[in-house]
Amino acid sequence: MDSLFNDSEISACGDELGRRVYTSRLLGRDKTLVLHGGGNTSVKMRARNAFGEEEEILYVKGSGWDLEKIEEGGFAPVRLEHLKRLAQLSALSDPAMVNELVTNMTRASAPTPSVEAILHAILPYKYVDHTHADAVVTVTNSVGGEARIREIYGDSVVVVPYVMPGFDLARLCAEMFSQQAGPQTIGMVLLNHGIFSFGETAQESYARMIDLVRRAEDYLKRNQAWDIACNGDAQAVANAGLDLARLRKDISAVAGFPLIVARHADTQSMAFARRHDVATIAQQGPATPDHVIRTKRLPMLGRDVQAYAEAYRAHFAAHEPLARERKTMLDAAPRVVLDAELGLCAVGRSAKDAAIVAEIYAHTMEIIVRATALGGYRALPAQDIFDVEYWDLEQAKLKKAGKPAAFAGEVALVTGAASGIGKASVDALLARGAAVVGIDLNPAIVSLYKRPDFLGIECDVADEEQIRNALARTAAAFGGLDMLVLNAGIFPGGCRIDALKTDEWRKVMRVNLDANFVLMREAHAFLKLAPRGGRVVIIGSKNVPAPGPGAAAYSASKAALNQLARVAALEWGGDNIRINSLHPNAVFDTGIWTDEVLASRAKHYGLSVDAYKKNNILRTEVTSRDVAELAAEMCGSLFAKTTGAQVPVDGGNDRVI
Ligand code: ZN
Repeated sequence: MDSLFNDSEISACGDELGRRVYTSRLLGRDKTLVLHGGGNTSVKMRARNAFGEEEEILYVKGSGWDLEKIEEGGFAPVRLEHLKRLAQLSALSDPAMVNELVTNMTRASAPTPSVEAILHAILPYKYVDHTHADAVVTVTNSVGGEARIREIYGDSVVVVPYVMPGFDLARLCAEMFSQQAGPQTIGMVLLNHGIFSFGETAQESYARMIDLVRRAEDYLKRNQAWDIACNGDAQAVANAGLDLARLRKDISAVAGFPLIVARHADTQSMAFARRHDVATIAQQGPATPDHVIRTKRLPMLGRDVQAYAEAYRAHFAAHEPLARERKTMLDAAPRVVLDAELGLCAVGRSAKDAAIVAEIYAHTMEIIVRATALGGYRALPAQDIFDVEYWDLEQAKLKKAGKPAAFAGEVALVTGAASGIGKASVDALLARGAAVVGIDLNPAIVSLYKRPDFLGIECDVADEEQIRNALARTAAAFGGLDMLVLNAGIFPGGCRIDALKTDEWRKVMRVNLDANFVLMREAHAFLKLAPRGGRVVIIGSKNVPAPGPGAAAYSASKAALNQLARVAALEWGGDNIRINSLHPNAVFDTGIWTDEVLASRAKHYGLSVDAYKKNNILRTEVTSRDVAELAAEMCGSLFAKTTGAQVPVDGGNDRVI
C-alpha cells in the first residue's frame, strides 16, 4: 500500500473542498481500496445561507460518482445540524432517510447524498475517508477476525460489528464511537464491511487510511497469507465456445432475458476454480455488502451445463417470491460461474456489467484465498446477504435504471467493421445496447473503440482458420452470438467480361461469396443458441436486382450471396434464425469513394458531385448510417416475423422498382 500523496499537487487544490476532491481521487486510484463506486468521503465546512447566517455543511460523496473521477459537483452539501439530529432518532426507514438527506441539501442540483451520510455526520472530524480496503476485509472476514483487528490496531480504531449500511449502521457507529473513541482514535473498522479514517486535514485523513491499511497488509504478510501461489498446471481449455453459448442460453432462459457471459481463463481464475475446496470457500457470501449487490455467484464444479442451469434455476426460484412481494423486476440471477475447465464466467445484463462483476470477483478471490490461508474465510451470515440484496435503497436504484436497451445482453458480429457501412453498423448496434465484435482486415479495427462492449479483431474473412478463431474469441468475450452482419466485400474497378482475368474473378468470389458462406456455416451453431433467436443481415447490393456493365464478378458474387441467403432462410427458420438482405446503392461516404473518385464519376455523367450523390428517385443522399440503421432494425422486433426479405436502401431506383 503506497501513498500517492504529492505536496505540490495538493497545494494547487485551493480550498477545503478542492483538497477533499484531491485525496478522494487518490483513494479511487487504488483498486485495492475502492472499486466501482465503492467507498465514500466527506468534509465539513461552514457556509453562509440566504439570511446571512453561518451554517455547518457536510459535503459528502453523491451516489453515482466514482471516487477516482469525482469533482466538486459530485459532493452533496447537506445541513450538518439536521443530520446530527436524525442520528438521535430511534428508528428511520431507509426511504425516509434518503428523503431527509435530499430535502436538506443546500444545492437543488446536487446528486443524492451517499447512504452513509449520517455516519459521516456523527464523526467529529473535519475530513472523513471510507474504503472497503481488500486487506482489512480479508482480516475481518477470516476466523477470529475481530480479535485479529484488535491485535493489529489496538485502541487506535473503534470496532463496529456488522450491520447493513443505512440508518441502523449510522446509529450503531455513533454508539460504538462514544464508547470506544479517545484522543488516540484515528479510524474505525466495520467488520465484514470496511474501514474509516479521519483527520483535521485532507492529508492527515488520507495518510491515516494508508497507514491503517498497510498495517493490515503487514499482518497478512507476517502470517503467510499475502503471497498466494497459483498452481501452474491450470491450463485453460481452448475451443470452449459452444459450451459457453449453451451455458449462456440456459441461464438467459432462466433469467428471462439475454445475458452476457464473459469468460476469464487467466491464471488466478483458473487456479481458484480448480481448488479442491472451491465449492466450500466460494459458496459462502461475498466479501462485503458492496460486493454482494453486484456479484451473486454460483460456483459449480465439472463441466455439466445442464447442472448449471438446474442450480441456476433453483437459486432464481428461491429469490423469486421476495422479488414478487417487493413488486420489482429484480434480477435475482447469480453473476459468477466457476468451472474447473472454463475458469471464471462473469454474467451481466451488459458487457460493462459483466466486466465490473469480473473485476470485483478478482478482488473477492484474492480476499477469499488470503483469508483461507489466514485460518479460514468467514463471509456474512446468509440472512444478512439476503437483506442487502433486497435492500430498499438498492431496489430504488434498480427501478431508476429504467427500461433496458433493445439489444441489452445480446452479441453481434460485423464484418468489414473498420470503416463505412461496417463501422456504422457497429455504432448502430452499440447504440442499441449490444456487445459488438468488429472484424476487419485492417489492423486499425483492434483499437477502433476502447470500451468493454466492443472487441475488434484483425481477421481475413477469406481464411477459414481465422474465422473460427474470431468466433471462439467472440464466445469467450461475450458468451455467444445473436446477430451477424455480413458486410465485408470488395468492389474491383470496372472490367468487361472479355477482359476479366480468372484470378480477379476468383478473388472477388472468394471474399464476397465464399467467405460469407464459411462464416455462415461456422456461425450457425452459435446463432442456433441465441436466447432470442439468431439474426443474419446481408449487406447486398443494388446490382443484385439491377446489375451494371463492367461489374460482372461483383454482380455475380452478390447475386450468388443473395441466393445463399434465401436458401439459409429456408434451412434455418426451424432453428429460429432469420436472414434478411438489404440492397444499398450509391453510398458514397465509404473508403472507396475519395473526393477525386467522386468528382471524376460525377463528371463522367455530366453531373455536379451533389447531383450525382442524389441521382435517385427521391433525390436524396444515402449514407452509411442510413444503411446501418436499417441493418440494426432488421435484427430488432420490427422484423421479428420476417425472414428471406430483400429491402432496397437506395433512394429509389427505376430499374429496381
Ligand atoms: Zn461502505
